[in-house]
Amino acid sequence: MHDAVPHWIGGGEHRGSGDRRGKVFNPATGEVLRTVGFADATDVDAAVAAARNALPGWRATPPLRRSRILQNYLTLLRRNERELAAVASQEHGKTFDDALGSVRRGIEVLEFACGIPHLLKGEHAADVGTGVNAYSLRQPVGVCVGITPFNFPVMVPMWMFPMAIACGNSFVLKPSEKVPSCSVMLARLFAEAGLPDGVLNVVQGDKAAVDALLADPDVAAVSFVGSTPIARGIYETCARNGKRVQALGGAKNHAVVMPDADLDFTTEALIGAAFGSAGERCMAISVAVAVGDVADRLVERLADRARALKTGPGNEPGVDMGPLVTGEHRDRVRGYVDAGEREGAALVVDGRDIEVAGAGNGFYLGPTLFDHVEPSMTIHREEIFGPVLSVVRVPTLEAAIALINASPFANGTAIFTGSGAAAQLFEETVEVGMVGINVPIPVPMAFFSFGGWKNSLFGDLHVHGTESVKFYTRTKAVTSRWRFGKAAASTLVMPTLG
Ligand code: NAD
Repeated sequence: MHDAVPHWIGGGEHRGSGDRRGKVFNPATGEVLRTVGFADATDVDAAVAAARNALPGWRATPPLRRSRILQNYLTLLRRNERELAAVASQEHGKTFDDALGSVRRGIEVLEFACGIPHLLKGEHAADVGTGVNAYSLRQPVGVCVGITPFNFPVMVPMWMFPMAIACGNSFVLKPSEKVPSCSVMLARLFAEAGLPDGVLNVVQGDKAAVDALLADPDVAAVSFVGSTPIARGIYETCARNGKRVQALGGAKNHAVVMPDADLDFTTEALIGAAFGSAGERCMAISVAVAVGDVADRLVERLADRARALKTGPGNEPGVDMGPLVTGEHRDRVRGYVDAGEREGAALVVDGRDIEVAGAGNGFYLGPTLFDHVEPSMTIHREEIFGPVLSVVRVPTLEAAIALINASPFANGTAIFTGSGAAAQLFEETVEVGMVGINVPIPVPMAFFSFGGWKNSLFGDLHVHGTESVKFYTRTKAVTSRWRFGKAAASTLVMPTLG
């Protein structure tokens, strides 16, 4: 029997008392790599208790000292980035180079978090009244929880716990059961960097672990990233249970291609954005909106490039695109390709019959391109989360913007154009949280905040950047007087200071 991936509780590996286990696949071959033990309520209790017990010491640690531990962690993560990327690639299926890029994007959030002494500074106003000053303090919220999806085993957890911990909170991470190993590696390295026991904990598991975390009265705040139905449910449950919550959901990202776009550049950008990580990115471009007469030229170029991509195991040199995460997910994506064909879209490149030599029963689906997709078709309305790019043809930029604004998803979008006026109209009127101008996947840098609108984010504050400081702290406003002068007669009238 394979060794089960453990939990990490109170500064060490924890086998857990739950007897349920999940299988962790190697998507490149279809084999079971290892298993993962699913937490039961007792394991979740242990993790939350460890986080609660670590909280008083950690929140009282000066931010500069916290930052020094984060800086040690930064050094260790940089030294171990290739090991992390290798495991992310092995369990997820994405290519090693792609995994390495995403590990580095995660590390950038830690770089930002190292500036926490500055980020936590409050506001101050002298003499709001005679001899009276006012200022605000940012204090940690308490035990925070992160629940993360399968598609970025390192980066998405790192959107959350470095900032939460830098702000003085303790943390319980519940990673995706499909890719459980990187989280334990991340926790072990943080402990080596000097993080006190219990400040970061990892519980492996599925819905049962999530339900126990959401019901726990000691949990103050929940960050979630995953699909829209689950995000909505997490948001509602947290609101009912009085917890602060940010719940990022699914996506359907459109890229508008104007007739004046540089087509070679645009084609390369779209191919990377549609098929990188086999389309399993929440910022993947899954719809190209071709404006006016650009469509035929664009589709021809996209088809040539899609056919030339090499699909295979993510750890093999020269491979552009790996498999999908599980056989079940691959079949689901295939089902969307079937639906597109059935509903009358033109299937220009069909990835369903891909054969990857020597790859056993790997979960492969080749790059797939549809043209003449109508907005009402299933493949346009729903998130596919696979290597399927749809081209929708529209007559004008205004029609393209209207199409995007009608979508219930609003994570990312992009425009490819040589016109500043078109770009300006687009950025001003498109109702989407993250916008790229000649940039296909506009994932904001760590010092900006990441998040979509509408069904792509339930809550108010986005992740990382300064919005995460707001999410992981509570503001306290203090009004202070230290010189008393002559005691005023008591009054029952509402006081004014000015
Ligand atoms: P998912 O919603 O199935 O799972 C996400 C997390 O929720 C996992 O940890 C899982 O164990 C847990 N979970 C699953 N079902 C649950 C339930 N019924 N109750 C409680 N918890 C449950 O998502 P996934 O398949 O792992 O990831 C893919 C999805 O994530 C896509 O929809 C993608 O767009 C989205 N995503 C969004 C962003 C973003 O920034 N908006 C980023 C990455 C991924």
